Amino acid sequence: MPKPLPQPDAESREFWEDVKARRLMLQRCRACGRFRFYPRAVCPHCLSGDFERVTASGKGSLYSFTVCHRPAAEAFAADVPYVVALVDLDEGVRLMSNLIGCPPGQARVGMHVEVVFEDASPDITLYKFTPAGSSSSVEGLLMMR
Ligand SMILES: [Zn+2]
Repeated sequence: MPKPLPQPDAESREFWEDVKARRLMLQRCRACGRFRFYPRAVCPHCLSGDFERVTASGKGSLYSFTVCHRPAAEAFAADVPYVVALVDLDEGVRLMSNLIGCPPGQARVGMHVEVVFEDASPDITLYKFTPAGSSSSVEGLLMMR
């Protein structure tokens, strides 16, 4: 059973194209200077439609997480236990993702993490997070799949 994948739309298509190119890009409002996530046409802070796209550091910290021992859907059954994570990027936005390259029992709120990219289909690549300093070895493991 295939896993559900992101369905890029007019507002998120560039974001997902960048993720496929292994770049995590954020929108930053040109009026108030704040970053936002998810991609959208209007700033949620000041309602300006004027924004630029900026390459994110890919670094952040684990805000919260849960370890899933029962899969959310049958497609995820082979992955249990896996970590669903809320990550605060250094740019000040929060993303939901997975923590990988780390035994679930070693996940800790506040731990430093960095982005890695995992090809999920010919068209879609996903951003995930791994403990800071381990992204090169985790990317190597993902490439061997
Ligand atoms: Zn704004």
